[in-house]
Amino acid sequence: MTDDPPATPSERFASLAHETRLAIVRELGGPAEDGDGYVTVPFSALQDRVGVEDNGRFAYHLGKLRGTFVERTEEGYHLTRPGIDIYQAILAGAYSVREDLGPFDTDFSCLGDDCEGTLRCEYADDRFRLWCGGCEEVLVHYVLVAGCFGEDLPANLLETASKRIKRDMLSLHQGYCPYCAGSVEFRALGPTRSFRWSESTDVFRHDCTRCHWWMRTRASRAALVLPRVVAAFASEGVDLFEWPHWDARVDREEVVLSRDPLKINVRIRVEGVTRDVVLGPELEVESIEVPA
Ligand SMILES: [Zn+2]
Ligand SMILES: [Zn+2]
Repeated sequence: MTDDPPATPSERFASLAHETRLAIVRELGGPAEDGDGYVTVPFSALQDRVGVEDNGRFAYHLGKLRGTFVERTEEGYHLTRPGIDIYQAILAGAYSVREDLGPFDTDFSCLGDDCEGTLRCEYADDRFRLWCGGCEEVLVHYVLVAGCFGEDLPANLLETASKRIKRDMLSLHQGYCPYCAGSVEFRALGPTRSFRWSESTDVFRHDCTRCHWWMRTRASRAALVLPRVVAAFASEGVDLFEWPHWDARVDREEVVLSRDPLKINVRIRVEGVTRDVVLGPELEVESIEVPA
């Protein structure tokens, strides 16, 4: 038995709203026996796994998912693409409530020229925050979905935040929202006070035109994820993705070469490897050179 597939988003969400249906999605999210993709499970085996004894009741709940989140084939039931999305969102903790963590002291020190404070971090209200315990400057404040970091704290939290921020930065810079697949608008906001350097440096902003996710960055931070820059350092044996951008050992210096068109030289020094990266008005790489 099956109902007509729900047509509208609200009907689709409503069709998920039962613990048995979410249990079905979780069961069908398991790995296929041949290791290739997700399981396909016959009706009665699925019913056993979910643990509902009443055939009619189980068929009713399964029917609610069919046509949208679950599909039937000759071998049994499996997740559709939207079903996989829901399964992944459950795993990522998108619908979970995560308790606040921290604040913790970290092994990192402040990036400010005149401050020797220790960086502190916390996870509160679904946001990762990193700030200096000395001068109180906030370095990072960013939404992280719950459930995506481990128990070794604060190391796992810092690692997850760094990876997530780099991934989002790269995706947004490529014009593709990592959350809704919308297109991204890029703007130069002009020189803005920088606590790290005595002079102001240019700030840029990426905005998703669809879901309004956004991120602000400076040229010296964006440069660390640009593929040409990453490749240049990789060829010297340095993996920039291993380094969080708040690590003072990733030394960076910005110099504006011209205002119109905007051209910024970012000198990056990591593990003894130094490169001058010239970025154009859209933060595109114009050249990468070994400093003279
Ligand atoms: Zn400080
Ligand atoms: Zn978006």
